[in-house]
Amino acid sequence: MKIAMIGTGYVGLVSGVCFSDFGHDVVCVDKDPNKIAQLEQGIVPIYEPGLDDLMAKNVSAGRLSFSTDLQAAVDGADAIFIAVGTPTRRGDGHADLTYVMAAAIEIADALTGYAVIVTKSTVPVGTNRQVQKVITEANPEADFDIASNPEFLREGAAIDDFMRPDRVVVGVESARAIEVMGAIYRPLSLREFSIMYTGLESAEMIKYAANAFLAMKITFINEIASLCERTGADVKMVSKGMGLDNRIGSKFLHAGPGYGGSCFPKDTQALARMGQDHAVPMQLTETVIKVNDEVKRRMVDKVVDICGGSVNGKTIAVLGVTFKPNTDDMRDAPSLTIVPQLVGNGAKVRVVDPQGKHEGEALLPGVSWLDDVYQAAQDADALVILTEWNEFRALDLKRMAERMSTPVMADLRNIYSPKDAENAGFSAYVSIGRAGYG
Ligand code: NAD
Repeated sequence: MKIAMIGTGYVGLVSGVCFSDFGHDVVCVDKDPNKIAQLEQGIVPIYEPGLDDLMAKNVSAGRLSFSTDLQAAVDGADAIFIAVGTPTRRGDGHADLTYVMAAAIEIADALTGYAVIVTKSTVPVGTNRQVQKVITEANPEADFDIASNPEFLREGAAIDDFMRPDRVVVGVESARAIEVMGAIYRPLSLREFSIMYTGLESAEMIKYAANAFLAMKITFINEIASLCERTGADVKMVSKGMGLDNRIGSKFLHAGPGYGGSCFPKDTQALARMGQDHAVPMQLTETVIKVNDEVKRRMVDKVVDICGGSVNGKTIAVLGVTFKPNTDDMRDAPSLTIVPQLVGNGAKVRVVDPQGKHEGEALLPGVSWLDDVYQAAQDADALVILTEWNEFRALDLKRMAERMSTPVMADLRNIYSPKDAENAGFSAYVSIGRAGYG
C-alpha cells in the first residue's frame, strides 16, 4: 500500500513509521519545513522511546520518506491519513478544526486517482462528513471514500501501543474502503488483535467516550484521595483494593496532581461542548473538568503548607515537569498550573526533567534548569516531585535531605512512602491521599 501521512507530530510520525515497518510505502508530510529538514537528517523532533531506531531502519529500507510537498505525496496514494492537531479553540472549548479542514482542501486539490481519506486526528462527531463535503466541493471529480480511524496510542509507549493495539477502530461506509483499510492493518492480524468496523459517527464518538472515561477514572481516584487524607485511609491501598476487581481494573487509578497532556484536557472539553451543542449536557464530563482543575490547585496549597505557609523567597527543587514520564510533551501538564503559581508567590524554582527543558523553557519563565537532582537539592527549602520519571524513583533520599536547607518533600506522585522520607531525615513529607507528617 502507498500511504501519505499528513502531519508528523506525535501521532502522525509514529503511525507513519510503524506503517512503513509493516512494509507499506509511506511519505510523511508536514508544513513545518524545519521538522521535515530534521527528519530528512535522521533527527526525530520529538522524544518517543525507540522511534529513532525504527525510523532509521525504514528510511534505509527505502519505505519511508519525508516531504513538505503534499501534492506529490498524495499523487497515487491508496490512503491519505490526516494526523494534524485539533487543539481547543480559543474561547469556547470546541475542537479547532482549522488544520483538519485546511489539510482536506489541500488533499482535494492533489487527488489523482481513487484513495481513502482517513482522519486519524481526534475530531468531534460529524467532522468526517464535513471533510467529505469540503473535499467534494473543492474537487467535484474526486474519487474517494472517507474513513475515521481514531488513534489510541499513549505517548511514551507509542510504538508498542501502535504495534500491539487492544483494538483498531475504523469508521467506514464502503466495501472498497474496508478493503484498503483491511490491507493497511493486515500485518497486525498476525498478532492477537481485533479491527472493529463501524459507522463514521460511532468511530468518532468512541475516541471521545474512551478518553473522557479514562479522565473520569483518574479524577475519581483523585477525589477519593482527598477524602482519604481527611479520614486516615491510604489511597494506594484503596486503589489496589479497587483495581483487583476485574470489573474496575487497576489502570488509570493512581492518585496524582491531576490529569494533563495533549489529549484528556482538550478532549473532555470538546465532548462537553458537543453535549451542549446537542442539548445533551455531559454532566459527568463537565464535573470531571471542574474537579481536575481543583485537584491541580490543591497541589499548590500542599507545597505552600509544607513550606510553612509561604513560599516567598524559598528555593524549591521541582523534579519533573512533562505531563508524564517518557515524553517531552508539556501540553497542559499540571506543572504549567503549579510552577507559575510558586514563582508568582516568590519562590525560586529549580527544575530537573530528563526531556522537558526544550519545550518547557518558553512555557515556564523564571525557573532555572538543572541536570542533576542532587545539585538541585543543594540548599533547597523544599523538594517537589511532579512527574514520576524512572530516574526519580530510586533517589538516595538521605543524600538529598542532607543537602537541603529545610528537608521537606511534597511527593505528588506517591513514589515514596512516609517511612522512606522519615528514615532519610526529611522533617516533613506530604503526598496524595495518604497520611504525611511534619
Ligand atoms: P502535533 O501538534 O504533535 O502534530 C501535528 C502536526 O501537523 C504538526 O507537525 C503540524 O505542523 C502538522 N500540520 C498541521 N497542518 C498541516 C497541513 N495542512 N499539512 C501538513 N502538516 C500539517 O499533534 P499530535 O499530538 O500528533 O496530535 C494529532 C492528532 O491526534 C490530534 O487530533 C490529537 O488529538 C490526536 N491524538 C493524539 C495523541 C497523542 O498522544 N499526542 C493520541 C491519540 C490521538
